[in-house]
Amino acid sequence: MIRSALYTAFLALALCFGMLWLRGVLAPAEIPSPAPSVSAETAPPAPASAAPALRRVRVKDGGAVSEMALEDYLVGVVAAEMPAEFEPEALKAQAVAARTYTLYCARTGRHADADVCTDFACCQAWRSDDALRESWGGDYGDRLGRIREAVEATAGQYLSYGGEAVFAAFHSSSAGFTEDCGAIWSGLPYLVSVSSPESADTVPNYVSRAELRPLDFRDTLLYAEPEADLTGDPADWLGELRRDESGRVAEAVIGGAVFSGVRLRELFALRSTAFTLEYADGVFVFTVTGFGHGVGMSQYGANVMAASGADYRAILAHYYPGTELVPA
Ligand SMILES: [Zn+2]
Repeated sequence: MIRSALYTAFLALALCFGMLWLRGVLAPAEIPSPAPSVSAETAPPAPASAAPALRRVRVKDGGAVSEMALEDYLVGVVAAEMPAEFEPEALKAQAVAARTYTLYCARTGRHADADVCTDFACCQAWRSDDALRESWGGDYGDRLGRIREAVEATAGQYLSYGGEAVFAAFHSSSAGFTEDCGAIWSGLPYLVSVSSPESADTVPNYVSRAELRPLDFRDTLLYAEPEADLTGDPADWLGELRRDESGRVAEAVIGGAVFSGVRLRELFALRSTAFTLEYADGVFVFTVTGFGHGVGMSQYGANVMAASGADYRAILAHYYPGTELVPA
C-alpha cells in the first residue's frame, strides 16, 4: 500500500536527517529558529528610540547572499507567503508582518552572514522576480501590482513592543482561535490566543484527514517513543487527550506514553495540532482543522477580516495585541 511505503520512507528519512527533516515538513513561517529569545518575564522595555533603520537587507538564498532594498525583498516575501488575490488590506497586514519579521531576524542575528534567508522553514519564503514572472505568466502584471501596492502603502511600517521589532509569527489558518506562543516556544505578551474568523467556507482544505493502519501508526510512534506499549488490541492504545485553551492538542497519551500535539503533528505530517484522533473500522484517523502552527496572524483570518471591512491596522492589532504600529 502506498501509505505503508510512504511511512517506511518517512522512517528512513527521519533517521537519516533527524531534525532537519522535521523542520522541512513544516509549513511556511512555521519554525522560528532559534526560538524567540525574548521572554515576557525577562524583556525589559527598550528605549522607544531603538527604531530599526534597515534600508537594505542581505538575503541568503541557498549558498549565495545578495543585498537588495528591504522593500523590494518584501515584495518577494508577500508574493511567496500570501495569495495575490487576497484582499488589499490583508496583503498590507502581511507586508507589515513580513517587514517586522525581517527586522526581528536581522536584530536577533539569526544568520552570521545575512539578515534573513529564503528557507521558509527558517526565516520566510521569498520568490525572485524571475520566478514570479515564470509561475504567474499572464497574471504577472496584475498580481505583482497588487502586492507591490500593499508593500508601498505600508512602506517602512513595522510592529513594535517595548521599542523593538516583534517576533511577528504568522500562519495559514486557525481553528477558531490562534495559538499562544508559549504553547510551542516561549511565551510572548503579544502572541496570545485570540479568535480567528475563518471557516471551511473561506479556507480551501480547511479540514483534512490522515488515516493510518495500526502497523504504520505503531511504527511511527515507536520511532519517537520506544517505551510506548503498542501491543494487543489497537482499540486500547489511545488514552487521555488534553487540549490547550486554543482547542489544539497539548498532549495525548498513546500506549501509556505522552506525546505532545506538536510532536504528533511532526510525526504524522499533520497540517496543524487542532485535531481529533480516533480508532474506528481498523484505522486510526486524524481529523485536522486549519494549517500551520497557529501562532500570530492567521492569513486566511486576516483575509476574512479584510473582506468584512477591517483595515490592516485593525487586523494587526487583533492578531498582535499590545504591539504598536510604528510609522515610517
Ligand atoms: Zn533563515
